[in-house]
Amino acid sequence: MQFIMSVFVCFWLLLISFAAESKQDSPSVHSAPILLYHHVADDTPASTSISVEQFKQHMAYINEHHTVLPLTDIVAAIKANEALPSNALAITFDDGYKNILTNGHPILSDYNFPYTIFINPAEIGQRANQLSWDEVKQLQNEGVLFANHTMNHLHMLNKEDNESEDEWLERVWSNVSEAQTVLEQKTGTTVKYLAYPFGEYNQALAQRVEQEGYVGFGQHSGAAGPTSQISALPRFPAAGPYASLKSLKTKMASLALPVTRISSPEPQRDFEAPGAITLTINDEKIDLGRASCYFNGNKIRSQSDEQQLSFTLEQTLPTGRSRVNCTVPSSQFSGRYYWYSQPFFVANKEGKYPD
Ligand SMILES: [Zn+2]
Repeated sequence: MQFIMSVFVCFWLLLISFAAESKQDSPSVHSAPILLYHHVADDTPASTSISVEQFKQHMAYINEHHTVLPLTDIVAAIKANEALPSNALAITFDDGYKNILTNGHPILSDYNFPYTIFINPAEIGQRANQLSWDEVKQLQNEGVLFANHTMNHLHMLNKEDNESEDEWLERVWSNVSEAQTVLEQKTGTTVKYLAYPFGEYNQALAQRVEQEGYVGFGQHSGAAGPTSQISALPRFPAAGPYASLKSLKTKMASLALPVTRISSPEPQRDFEAPGAITLTINDEKIDLGRASCYFNGNKIRSQSDEQQLSFTLEQTLPTGRSRVNCTVPSSQFSGRYYWYSQPFFVANKEGKYPD
């Protein structure tokens, strides 16, 4: 009996040491993916929803393979160029739907995952499908971080008739600061994070975001790292057409492609074909010869030398949101990819940006 007991204890100790080792084993990296969800529900618009069942599957997979960190930890690390656990990621939601509380939160709490919700203060408590301020407070007491998604979810790039550039920027910025004031009053938060509604921004707005001391978050894909634009950090949409766990696994394992210069970084465009855009990447460990670039899922022409990757987009851009994604397999981390996304935003004939 004693022998059986000691075998059992030995086996148990062995298991513990294995578990401890697999947690410490991963080498560190300097970037992390940020996931973006909206609805967690079975009866909401398909393009921005994930079913409760599928959300459970995502979280179970993440629990087994990833380290979920607060968004603030990831932002602090990439600002300081500090190492992150090799499998780190952050979880975010946009729009403040009530089904985050009723369907998402119980699952996230079971795993003790920290997460962030970007909300529109003018919408909170105003519709049956939105969180109320009491519910915001309740979630905040349970560790959820709330941040700015503008007052009322406007298309920030839309201009009013006869509005000058300066007038436009002042108008959209006062919307952001009003939302921030309400957030501060209601939640006491001091975090200055802005998620652009629809992921839409231009360089003038991004510059203002940075000048005002904010961190900006988009909806173009890729891991966020020290070379990412801090006023337009990428996030991986993880619901709707992007909810398949198979493709999400690759995204959750992705690394930021360390792009230090973009020849043509403006995402706000007209229909005109962008032509060649060159990315500068100073990292001898990355073999740019193995890069592939895609526009709306189709492979496009690209060429590279040791420090530059150029892609050429010969077709005109569609109205609304589109993007080029470039990936390069990592030689250091087998099966993982460096990932970079460049978004484009094109207004319709009336000069407005569609939902
Ligand atoms: Zn939104």
